[in-house]
Formats: sequence, C-alpha cells, structure tokens
Amino acid sequence: MKIPVPDYILSITPYSPGKPLEELEREYGIADSIKLASNENPLGPSPMAIEAIKNAMLRLNRYPDGSGHDLIRKISDHIGVSPRHIVLGNGSDEIIGMLAFAFLQPGDEAVLPNPSFLMYDIMARGAGAVPVFAPLTSLSIDLDLILERITPKTRIIFLCNPNNPTGTIITNNDFDAFIKEIPEDIIVVMDEAYIEFVRDQNCAVGYEYMDNKTPLVILRTFSKVYGLAGLRIGYGIMPAAIADILNRIRLPFNANSLAQAGACAALEDKGFIEKVVSLIHEGLDFLYDALDRRGIKYFPTQSNFFLIDVRKDADDIYENMLRQGVIVRSMKSYGYPSYIRVNVGLREENVRFLQALEKIMA
Ligand SMILES: *Cc1c(COP(=O)(O)O)cnc(C)c1O
Repeated sequence: MKIPVPDYILSITPYSPGKPLEELEREYGIADSIKLASNENPLGPSPMAIEAIKNAMLRLNRYPDGSGHDLIRKISDHIGVSPRHIVLGNGSDEIIGMLAFAFLQPGDEAVLPNPSFLMYDIMARGAGAVPVFAPLTSLSIDLDLILERITPKTRIIFLCNPNNPTGTIITNNDFDAFIKEIPEDIIVVMDEAYIEFVRDQNCAVGYEYMDNKTPLVILRTFSKVYGLAGLRIGYGIMPAAIADILNRIRLPFNANSLAQAGACAALEDKGFIEKVVSLIHEGLDFLYDALDRRGIKYFPTQSNFFLIDVRKDADDIYENMLRQGVIVRSMKSYGYPSYIRVNVGLREENVRFLQALEKIMA
C-alpha cells in the first residue's frame, strides 16, 4: 500500500472477539456447540425489548431520534441524574472511542490497568496517545500504581469495575481516596459493564461520585445483563461539560432506532433482570463448588465470568475445548499463560463446560 499510515495506527493489534458459534461449527464440522467466551447473557434478550423492537421495525423508514430523547429520559430516571449528563453510544465501546477522539492528542498519555478491557488501549492508540500501563496486583486494579503513572501528559485514566478479565472490584474506600488525588485536567473513566452482577457491598459505584465537577465518566451497557449485545447500545454518565464535547463529535444517528426502542423497554424489564442476575449467581456458586471438588484452582469473581488456572498451556486447552464444541477464552495473550476465562451459562451449558474441562485436564 502506497498511502502513509501513522505509526500509532500501525501499533494497534486488532481486537479479537470471542469465536462466533457459527464459525466454530463451520470450521470443525460440529453441531450443538456452546459459547462461554464473550460474557453474553445466556437467557437471551429481554423479552420486553424484543416486543418493543418488533413494533419499532414498522418505522424503519424514518431516521432515529438523533437526540435519543426517550431513552435518555428513561436512563435519567433509572440512575437519578439529569438528562444533560447522559450520552448514548453504539455500544459503550463507541463512547470509549469518542472520549479518546475528543480528549487525546498525539503525545498525550492514557493510563490503563493491565490486563483489562482491550478497547482502552486500541482507542488511546487510535488517537495517537501513549498507553501507560499499570499492572494489576493480585488480579485487582491497583489504584496506587495508577496514581504513580500520572504525569503532566496524562489526560485520561481508564478503570474497569468489575475488571474484565479478572472479575475483581474497586472498593468504595479505595476509590474515595483515589478520586481526591486526581487533578482537574484528567478524566477518570469508570467502565461499569458488569456492575449489575456485583454481590460485594463494598464495591464503588461511579454515579455516587458524580458532582458535575469531578471529571468522572461512567460507562454502562445494554450488552450484558439486558442481553442486547447484538443491538449495540450503551451510554455514558458524565459532567454536562464533557457531554457537550462528546455531542460535537457524535455521529447524529449513532444509536439506531431499534436499539433505542429495545433499550427503553429493557430498562423496564425488572423481572427479567432479576432472573438473569440470580441465574448468574447460582451458576457461579455451582461452578465454584464443582471446581473445588475437582481440585481445580479458580479466582472468585464479582462479574458473570471468571478465571480458571488450567495448569497447562491455555491456548492448547482452548483448542481442545473447541473440538468438544465449547468456546472459552485463552488468557495467554493477556499475560496469563495457564488461565482461561469462562462466563456463566445456562445450567446445562455449565455442566457441559465442566465435563469438557475434566476430560481435557485428566
Ligand atoms: C462487554 C464490555 C463492554 C460493553 O461493550 P458494548 O460496546 O457496550 O457492547 C464494555 N466494557 C467492558 C469491560 C466489557 O467487557
């Protein structure tokens, strides 16, 4: 290719998503496979969302509401913040991208925990910024190490609570102390994609720290507990001044009309959410117990996924599980060569996962 490409773009490793079921079945010629690799909702989409989407389909000839009026008002009631603090995204991934695009310039620094969600690294590099990594301590985000990484060039700090891929949380106490140390010219992003699954009462919840002064941005998504990953809808809660900036670069119709309708309905689907959360908690307890009995080491989580130490090359285990029709994630490329990440599925999926793992580890 003759077109020059900035070095910072060439430095990006493309995001590699969990293998889709269809791809596995095509490549391996098998049927009835299960996917426990992308932390998706095993119960399917919110039924109320499906109904709302069917109705909204009849108006697909019209452009979406570019201001996201109804959904933003619903989120505002749900969280208890004013609508001017809310920005919708084509998934919360897009808000990460908008933040990087708006606030990072070549040479700036973004501090990120490592390992964590890969999108922070990809978007920071995409804007020409330098990702500055703060390693985890005992699989948890170490806020002291994050503070140590701050320099005059730091513009954004990304935090993931609970952290993907480790499932650990940031506590209220730790976050209280941390946020007081942050200079006014640095944005702290709290990605709360899995916050609904947290059982630990000491977990920090971002909006409790929103005061329209602290440059804190909270990210939430409809992709996990609401079961709408394929629809692509998420949102950010932030000081109005930051929302104003994001709205300058936001594509006018970034949240499509089916996504807006589905998300509005999903927020009302309280019964479904409760069902999902208890299924995940029961599934976790079931898996913990089964792994304990087999003497397999794992790391308890506050999310709907967790890490298991398979004591062998995680890429090999991943391949072997694929052959048995079970998709998980190898954590080798994340710096954990013998760990896999698995998310909780339906009861029968959890059982199949255990059977496949047992067979491979024997
Ligand atoms: C799944 C996930 C998201 C959600 O991304 P969407 O773009 O909203 O689907 C965000 N952050 C983390 C850490 C995730 O694991």
